[in-house]
Amino acid sequence: MGLLDGQTAIITGAASPRGLGKATARLFAEHGCQVAILDLDASQAEDAAADLGERHIGLACDVTRKSDCDAAVAAVLKAFGQVDILVNNAGITQPLKIMDISHENYDAVLDVNLLGTLNMSQAVIPHMRERKSGKLVNMSSVSAQRGGGIFGGPHYSAAKAGVLGLTKAMARELAPDGIRSNAICPGFIATDITAGKLTPEMKVQILEGIPMGRAGEASDVAGCALFLASDLSAYVTGSEVDVNGGSLIH
Ligand code: NAD
Repeated sequence: MGLLDGQTAIITGAASPRGLGKATARLFAEHGCQVAILDLDASQAEDAAADLGERHIGLACDVTRKSDCDAAVAAVLKAFGQVDILVNNAGITQPLKIMDISHENYDAVLDVNLLGTLNMSQAVIPHMRERKSGKLVNMSSVSAQRGGGIFGGPHYSAAKAGVLGLTKAMARELAPDGIRSNAICPGFIATDITAGKLTPEMKVQILEGIPMGRAGEASDVAGCALFLASDLSAYVTGSEVDVNGGSLIH
């Protein structure tokens, strides 16, 4: 028996093969969930969904565009009939110092991480409210809690701190409607988000700050997402759950 039997989920940014979204989609599917993978490229999203099995779908959606988000949710509702879970996972980062952040950099990072989370949440909330049931799981970062120091610049820390505020405010406002909202704060996880820009020296320095002595695996984050999306966490809302190997203990 799966923890998500009979449920459906939308996971954004889940086409990246080694990413946190794909690992979460895989684990959700193993637990009986029907998954819609949303990402920038339609064929990559479709391929990622096909990897999980034939019940799942992949759709193009740029989370920075409200109209894309509304259209994707309508398409998922048509295909699945309901949406129980939204994982706001799409994100980008840039390793910049404070004085090097241009308005263009700021907009790019804030728009995907924070506006994207708002857009997708607004797209599913009316449906979840109607059903008096829903789970929102938002990908923040340890960078929000400790002011960066891993890879992303200050604008990334600010965007992910914004995700925490949005998560908590949605938890408060939506609890009476039976909708829970929680955030995950991953530490340093081995994925492709660093886009080849992580030097060996940076990696050594990061690993020195992790008491468990290793980078996290995407599956480490997926396990936490499963907990927050399932009834195991039925009384958990407005929380930020750390998945960081001890790199921030507070
Ligand atoms: P990844 O780069 O492997 O995957 C991110 C995915 O988001 C990609 O598939 C990309 O195409 C998609 N995406 C980018 N812009 C998009 C947009 N506008 N609309 C829709 N999709 C878009 O990254 P990952 O490491 O799996 O990261 C997943 C999430 O976890 C991100 O929000 C990231 O900030 C967060 N995070 C990652 C780490 C880490 O160490 N890997 C740590 C903390 C937080």
